[in-house]
Amino acid sequence: MENKTNKMHLTFDAKSVNEAFARMTVMAFMTDMNPTLDELEDVKTAVSEAVTNAIIHGYEDENEQVELSCRREGEKLIVIVEDKGVGIPDVEEARQPFYTTKPEQERSGMGFAFMEAFMDEIQVVSKVGEGTRVTMTKYIARDCDQ
Ligand code: ATP
Ligand code: MG
Repeated sequence: MENKTNKMHLTFDAKSVNEAFARMTVMAFMTDMNPTLDELEDVKTAVSEAVTNAIIHGYEDENEQVELSCRREGEKLIVIVEDKGVGIPDVEEARQPFYTTKPEQERSGMGFAFMEAFMDEIQVVSKVGEGTRVTMTKYIARDCDQ
């Protein structure tokens, strides 16, 4: 059976207005994998949370950049969202549901919990003063005749 591969990379300014096209770009990229609407919705939500985090937590300055990469390896979709911002002091703590450092902005602290729920794997690598990289994987498995 053929094992299709593909990849793309995008760099954009850390402005909230860019969250929509970032998530739509990933959805367009994965169309070729023939996802269900549920799978599309799951990836959309996870990418939206990761990109929003990079924009609002990673950077104070809108002129900084967010890097978004997508890679397909057969049935596997890998999405990487990376910023070179402030970083996360304690990743385990940050990943806990309801943990937020911005409660005054009506943040619920559920972003990482959503990413975990909607993707098959998520890895967070972060260093204070250097930035954060979130790697998310989802398996988009189709039977041959679907
Ligand atoms: P919500 O996503 O529900 O709006 P939130 O963004 O605070 O709220 P999470 O997305 O779960 O919740 O993130 C938890 C915390 O992790 C954030 O409050 C922030 O302190 C930290 N964090 C997440 N992503 C980054 C990032 N890219 N750079 C720096 N800190 C981050
Ligand atoms: Mg968040």
